[in-house]
Order: sequence, then C-alpha cells, then structure tokens
Amino acid sequence: MKYKDIIDKMSLEDKVALCSGADFFSTRAFERYGIPSITMVDGPHGVRKQVVAADHLGINESLPSTSFPTASLMACSWDRELLREMGEAIGAEGLQAGVSIVLGPGVNIKRNPLCGRNFEYFSEDPYLAGEMASNWVQGLQNKGVGASLKHFAANNQETERMSSDSIVDERTLREIYLPAFEKAVKKAKPATVMCAYNKLNGVYCSDHRYLLREILRDEWGFAGVIVTDWGAMNDRLQAFDAGLDLEMPGNKGHFDGEISGAIRNGALSEERLNESVARLLDLIFTATQNRQAGYRYDVEAHHQLARKMAASSAVLLKNEDEILPIQKSQKIALIGALAKEPRYQGAGSSHINPTRLSSAIDGFEALGVAYTYYEGYALKGTTDEALLIAAAEGARGCDVAVLFVGLPEAYESEGFDRITLAMPESHNMLVSKVAAANTNTVVVLVGGAPVEMPWIGQVKAVLNLYLAGQAGGLAAAELLFGLVNPSGKLAESYPLAYDDVPSAGFYETGGKQAQYREGIYVGYRYYDKAQKQVLFPFGHGLSYTRFAYADLTLSHTELNAPYEMNVSVNIHNVGAVAGAEVVQVYIQDLARTVFRPEKELKEFAKLFLRVGESKSVNFTLDARAFAVYDVAARGWVVPDGTYKVLVGASSRDIRLETKVRVQGVTMPSRELPDWYGNPAGKVSQEEFEALLGQKIEPVRPRRKGAYTLACSLNDMKASFVIRQVIKGIERTIGQGFGEADYSNPTFKMLMSSSTNTPLKNLSQLSPERMPKHLTTGLVHLANGRFLKGILALIQKPRSM
Ligand code: BGC
Repeated sequence: MKYKDIIDKMSLEDKVALCSGADFFSTRAFERYGIPSITMVDGPHGVRKQVVAADHLGINESLPSTSFPTASLMACSWDRELLREMGEAIGAEGLQAGVSIVLGPGVNIKRNPLCGRNFEYFSEDPYLAGEMASNWVQGLQNKGVGASLKHFAANNQETERMSSDSIVDERTLREIYLPAFEKAVKKAKPATVMCAYNKLNGVYCSDHRYLLREILRDEWGFAGVIVTDWGAMNDRLQAFDAGLDLEMPGNKGHFDGEISGAIRNGALSEERLNESVARLLDLIFTATQNRQAGYRYDVEAHHQLARKMAASSAVLLKNEDEILPIQKSQKIALIGALAKEPRYQGAGSSHINPTRLSSAIDGFEALGVAYTYYEGYALKGTTDEALLIAAAEGARGCDVAVLFVGLPEAYESEGFDRITLAMPESHNMLVSKVAAANTNTVVVLVGGAPVEMPWIGQVKAVLNLYLAGQAGGLAAAELLFGLVNPSGKLAESYPLAYDDVPSAGFYETGGKQAQYREGIYVGYRYYDKAQKQVLFPFGHGLSYTRFAYADLTLSHTELNAPYEMNVSVNIHNVGAVAGAEVVQVYIQDLARTVFRPEKELKEFAKLFLRVGESKSVNFTLDARAFAVYDVAARGWVVPDGTYKVLVGASSRDIRLETKVRVQGVTMPSRELPDWYGNPAGKVSQEEFEALLGQKIEPVRPRRKGAYTLACSLNDMKASFVIRQVIKGIERTIGQGFGEADYSNPTFKMLMSSSTNTPLKNLSQLSPERMPKHLTTGLVHLANGRFLKGILALIQKPRSM
C-alpha cells in the first residue's frame, strides 16, 4: 500500500479524523506525520475562494475570479477544445488562489427543464455531457488542480434534495444517468468524485456500496477520493464500507467516536479505513507538489477568454429574413433591463465574484454602435405599463428592436426547482408589444434553462445566450453585429410547452420520491420516439453561413466484434461568411428487439470553415455506439440487426444516412408495457413498476411520535413548536435581507436549505449552530416529549 510508512505511524483516531474536513473547505493537517492541509472550493464556472466566512450556498463574498459562462451554455459550444481551455483557465485561477481542488464539473443529466440547477449541468444527452466534462477535467488537471466530478448520481431535482429518493431502473441508470460520469472517470481520471445528497433506489448515495464500490471503483477503476457533497453523509460506517473516503465539510468529529469504536469491535475493518487514508494522502501530497507559489494569471486575458467562450456557444435559434446580423448603420432600439444589468451566472454554490462585468450596453458601446435604450420591465416585480409603452413606442420608430428578456434571478437557483417553464409575464408581454410595434424584432434570451416562447411566431430572430458569464454582453454584441458567426447548438430540447416534457406531471410532485418513470426517454429520446413537435430540437443552432454535407462513407457494410467502424463525411461552407458547423452522428437500431430511442447521439465534431472551404471529418465508433445495457447479463451487449448511421446538423435535421449490418446478439424479448415501445401520453406508476420489476412503496409522511433526526423541520411542521422554530428562522434569515424576501433567490435557498435538510445533516453542516443536543431536543419536542426535549435543549454541549 502506498504511504504505508505514514499510515503505520498514525493513530487510529488520527486516521479517522483525516477522513473528515478541518473546516468548510479544507482537509485536516497533521504536522506530526508531515501531512499538510489542502483546500477545495467551488466551481465549476470560476473559482469561489472565500476568505472571511465560508458557506456552500454562495452567500458570502469570495475573492474576485473570472465568471465564465455556465455549463448550460458551454455545452452548446460542442467544442471539446474550448472546454479544455475553460478547465485550464479555471485551473490557473485555482493555482493563483492556492486551491487544490475545484468542485466541479456537474454532469447530471437534465432530466426535466424545471430543475433549478440545470444551469450548472451540461446536457440531456449523456454522450455530450461526458465529452464536455472529460475535456473540462483534463484542462483543469493539466494545471495541477484536481476536479470533483459531481453529483454522483441521479441527482436531478432540487426539491427535497437532501432526502429525495431517485427511483431509477437499472437500464436507464446505465444508459442515461451514469455514462457521463463513466466517460469522465475513465477518460479524464478526476482527482475526486462527489457523491450526491439524494438516495438512489432507497439507499443514500453516500452509503451506496453498489454505486460507489461496485460500479465506480470496481467496474470503472476509479482510484481517486470519493467525497460527500457538503453535509450529505448519512451513515459513516456504511459509507466507509461503500468506499467513500472524505466527509465534508468539517463536522467537529461528529462520527469519529463511532468509527473508532466500530474498528475496535470489528464492525469495520481497519483495512477499509487504511484504504481511504491512503487515497487521501495521495490526493493531499499530489496536490501539495502541484502548488505554485506566486502564480499569476492574466485577468484581462481571462475576461477575453470568457467573451470568446460565450460567443462560440450562444445559439442562434431563429433568423427569419436573415435579419441578423444587424448593420451598425441601422436605427436600433435596445430594450430590456437585462441588457443593462446582465444576469450572467446562477445562484448557489457556483456563485462567483467576477473580476469585471460587461453588459450588452457595454458591448454595443465597445463596437461604437448607436442605440436608444429602453428598460421595458423592472427586474423585480410585475408588469410596469409605463416602461412597456415607452419601449413599444421607442421600437416603433426604429429599424430594428433588440430585446433582452428571460429568467430573472428569483426564477432559478440551486436549492429549489422552477415552478413554471414560462418567463415572467412582464417579459412575454414586452416581446408581444414590441413585436406588434416593429416587425423587425430580435429577442436575446437570458436564463439557465429552456422557457416557453408564446411569441415565437411574432419575432424574426432569437439568440439564446443562456447565462453567458462576465463578458457575455460583449459576446452578444459581437454576434448580433456579425463580428462573430454563431456556432452554438442546443445541448437540450426546447419543448413547446411544459406538458410535453416526458416527466411532466410526476417530476414536479415527486418530492421525497422521484420516480424516473419515463425511463430512457429523456429529452429528444422521448420527443423523437413519441413524434412530438418541439419548439427547438436537440442539436439545433443556426449560422450566418450555410453548410453542405456530402460523401458519407463507412469503413464497413457488415460489422463484427469488436465493432469498430470509421465514419467519414465532407462538410462544405457554401455561404458567404466563415463559420463553424457542429456535425452530429446519430445511430438508429432498425430492428429494435429491445425498446430503444429513435436515435441516439454517438459522435460529433466542430469544424471551422472559411468561405468555400470544405473538410472531411472522420469519426470512429466503437461497440458502445451500438450497445444497450442488458440488465440480466449485467453488461453491455450489441443487439444483432441493421443500423442506420445518421449524420446531421441537428437531431431533426439529418442530412445524410446509410446503413450497416451488425452481427450482434439476439436479445430475448421481455414482456413490458406498451408505453416503453411506443411512448405517448403519460406513463403510469403501474407501467413503471413493470419496468422496474418491483412495486414501489409509497412514502408515508411521518407522524408525531415517529419523528427522528432523519426528519427535516418541514417534515415535522405539524408540530406547533416546530412551526415557531421555522418562523424564527425566517425572521433571522430575513434580517440579512431587510425582511423575509421570497423574490430573492438566496433568501429562498437559505430557507429551503434550513427547513428541508434532515436535522442530522444540519448538525453535520453546522455543528456550532445546530449541535446534536439541540436537534435531538427539537425532535423530542415535535414528538410531544416535552420534558426530554427541554432537558436535551438545556444540556451543556459536550465537545462534539
Ligand atoms: C453543492 C455542491 C457544492 C458544495 C460545496 C453543495 O451544497 O451541492 O455542488 O460543491 O455545496 O459548496
């Protein structure tokens, strides 16, 4: 075993202590063994190093760092090299800040567009998410800063995020929710993987032996450190057994006695503990060697990099009559408060204190464009008629109206899910009114996730900026005026209406039990199979030029194991400007002896082409491109049959196709509800249970007398005492905001996190404010055991 000499010297207590943090973001140092401390910070769109007070919700200020575009926008670049550059730049900023691990990237699949944290995730497609994540990790780690691939796994909602149970069938887990992690682990070898808060099929991820030991370590060969999400530890003993190494944040030794005791009485083998210690020492010593005292990055160069990233990723969704690019000589109305006060990042732990901030107005100014600005709406509050009328009137007299609208801050955040796919009414009304006043209306969309666009037929162009980072305003201007040709493509589908989303109806009511009934049919896998219209399909994005596709050739007409096949295609820029095209390769199984999506993304490339230039691009597909996960065989198998290779500019713009005969295995057919073969309408719980192969136990709310430390305050709010405690918390948190302000995402997140976190996790997260004797007392009181409760509350806390 590596570091055996140090481990042999360490006392049992010290080894146990090393396995939980020293404080919010650092590991413990043990001078007597020569073990230094290392620091981890969030991520993943910059470096959030807090110097005064640390927190995991993005509340307290951090040192300035470049706020790069969020993952939801970066994934639209489909540009592996750019993601690597992003990782490297964040690595450089990490080096300067003396940081060893950046907590990212987030590779959870966008199961439903209402997830409050989708802005932090890449895609609805596991292949794309895995490629983006791997390159980001490689870039970061090239600089000597470690990554923390998160949140492992099936963490796809914020509602009840610390206690929800994601119920997922094995095949869906393997084909949709795990492959992005698998790719990044195998290809990029992140220094750490962070387990998720939620349960997966009834077991907390922190304790999940199957997930952590059998899949992540044994199958995928992950040799790095597994760390909890902050406060996610459920059962420390089981967690050690599952292969989890480090509990964060520091918990003042909450579990240490229990673990040392378990080792002494043989309930846990010391070998397990030593394995974790060895992995931690490896992480700590490698990180220490990689430090570079005095390292400095170029702040301005990183601002420009953030601009380039946003410009290479923003997606031109619509461009009727080629209204874009706008000519500088045109008379322009620039409308919308978001043009002046950009929303450029999401709220929560990923919140960055930017080094600079450029609005769209700054972007227009930098290009020397003349414009008249109209606010259009107030950033907070309801429709303001006066602002609306002034904007529409202003637009009337102009050649073109450019409107910045989207999701205000309070609409999306870590810690809670969105309640609607709609934008604020004030924004929708503004678009309609302005478009009625001026037919040349261009919408620039801001926000971390899809929105409904009831006005889409009234406007000529839509440019989707997502959350574009601190230089997003400069990028927007460059794209609108044609200095940069748009080349982003959607990494997720934009449904026409929320009801079309495959998990609509049970996602938002899931709470403590998230039933993944739609199975593998997430995003375009569902819309294509159910033949549903979408507003904009996965992979869609326009350019100011046009590309012709030709000469699709395969290396094989018949394919056998090991199923390696080359695909090549020629792309020609036949338009009038230089540009970049994202070429997408999808596979379709024509036989479909097992239920499968219509098509699935298996490769892509981004090509930069000058006017008139053409380039051939070659892809290599392997067995996984054709395989399904066979639950009975516990492995990947390639079903026999003929497959189509589809090459296109989006999932619904296939330009070329050809076939290959694949000699694979004959899959035994399994009786399953028709929905999975022909998904349409909503899938029922009974149908899902047939897929799952078992009945789902309903979650019964706990009642007085049965409350435990595993309950949150909200779980116990039938109790008068607990309701008073919640009111007290609301008052206390409210003081920091002037008053209780549910339109403020940080306030909302703090309230949600205080009232929805199980009490045992609150004690771990905040041992000073919520010591165990206090949470125990509250549980007794909620159970009506007043004497016990009061005795616990007044108990002099022993050092925890
Ligand atoms: C988030 C993680 C984050 C951690 C530390 C948690 O609440 O879920 O993504 O890295 O806090 O701030």
